[in-house]
Amino acid sequence: MALIVQKYGGTSVGSIERIMHVARKVKSFRDQGHDLVVVLSAMSGETNRLIDLAKQVQSSPDARELDVLLSTGEQQTIALLVMALKQIGVDARSYTGPQVRILTDSSFNKARILSIEESRMRKDLDEGRVVVAAGFQGVDENGNTTTLGRGGSDTTAVALAATLKADECQIYTDVDGVYTTDPRVVPEARRLNRITFEEMLELASLGSKVLQIRAVEFAGKYNVPLRVLSSFKDGEGTLITYEEDGMEEPLISGIAFQRDEAKLTILGVPDEPGVAYRILGPIGDANIEVDMIVQNVGADDTTDFTFTVNRNDYEKALKILQSTAEELGARDVNGDVKIVKISVVGVGMRSHAGIAATMFKALADERINIRMISTSEIKTSVVVDEKYLELAVRTLHSAFKLEQELTQA
Ligand code: ADP
Ligand code: ASP
Ligand code: MG
Repeated sequence: MALIVQKYGGTSVGSIERIMHVARKVKSFRDQGHDLVVVLSAMSGETNRLIDLAKQVQSSPDARELDVLLSTGEQQTIALLVMALKQIGVDARSYTGPQVRILTDSSFNKARILSIEESRMRKDLDEGRVVVAAGFQGVDENGNTTTLGRGGSDTTAVALAATLKADECQIYTDVDGVYTTDPRVVPEARRLNRITFEEMLELASLGSKVLQIRAVEFAGKYNVPLRVLSSFKDGEGTLITYEEDGMEEPLISGIAFQRDEAKLTILGVPDEPGVAYRILGPIGDANIEVDMIVQNVGADDTTDFTFTVNRNDYEKALKILQSTAEELGARDVNGDVKIVKISVVGVGMRSHAGIAATMFKALADERINIRMISTSEIKTSVVVDEKYLELAVRTLHSAFKLEQELTQA
């Protein structure tokens, strides 16, 4: 007998048939004697639909009201699942984020969880009920509804599991685990039995949307056993775990990519102290997150400075950069939205040189031009033209032989 937190994503609750299927799955765990807390996403497409409705009314929707709207998606599925459970004789009760009292800060659309009240859920569990909680939402100290950012139901599930000290947090989705890369792009991608928190965190932050970054952070911090599994297919899925001594470490664990990057360059700025700050200060002040940064070696006392931002922030960043360019007497400003970032991740990289070289050669052999490069201890990222995304990911996947059982260090 265990306490299990299960999260079902949008595709898994995307229709009434699928909600019934989830209900039967939950019942089978109940029948084995487990206590269950189930966290749900909205039906697939619903959150996008709601965002689209909001944009039809207000071009840049009011952040507070957007959260009031978006939180309704998850409110539909939790009620429907409880009805489905009752229909097959399982006692259950649904709670929205505010009803559980998932307290968050007040950053609408990207709120962070501060604390979770445990008492109500405990009482239901003690009385033999399944708790069904809405993912992706909470309430701030002033009673405003908040949401946790796209993919936030993963984080709700992990946070509930941490609070309740659950034996396992299971993330049910439309793939049967974490793969060496997105199996939709590389059909030869291989499912990993295990992956370390560190690598999963890196993959998530570099664009693999299979788990929200904060969910992985939370699980690592509070030591929550986390597993990614399929809602539709039986199997062990992928366990996200600490690095263990003697664990056979592959050199490279996976490849992530981000489709929604954009690149901006300011040309001919003075090559002197304080310039990077004068360029990026106003960008940061506008709440735009900067990802990669490259400054060229100066020539004639001037230099070029390039950085990337999320594509949604491109227009705003370009305007700011144009006015900075005037102030600094820069030669020109240009930008490109048709770029993507591809990253190779692996803890084995720490102790091995040559990963970057293998990566660059593989891309060169396919005549894919690399526009920017950045590296850290366990990842190497490149920016390439958008049109090469699929080719580049497939090329790297096979260059590192990720389709094979283990890339030995
Ligand atoms: P859910 O709605 O269940 O939260 P998501 O769409 O958020 O599901 O995440 C699952 C998707 O993540 C998969 O369908 C897959 O296309 C994508 N994905 C990206 N990278 C990976 C990876 N390395 N392993 C598995 N899935 C991945
Ligand atoms: N429904 C939200 C989204 O689409 C949250 C989630 O599914 O995790 O982003
Ligand atoms: Mg998701």
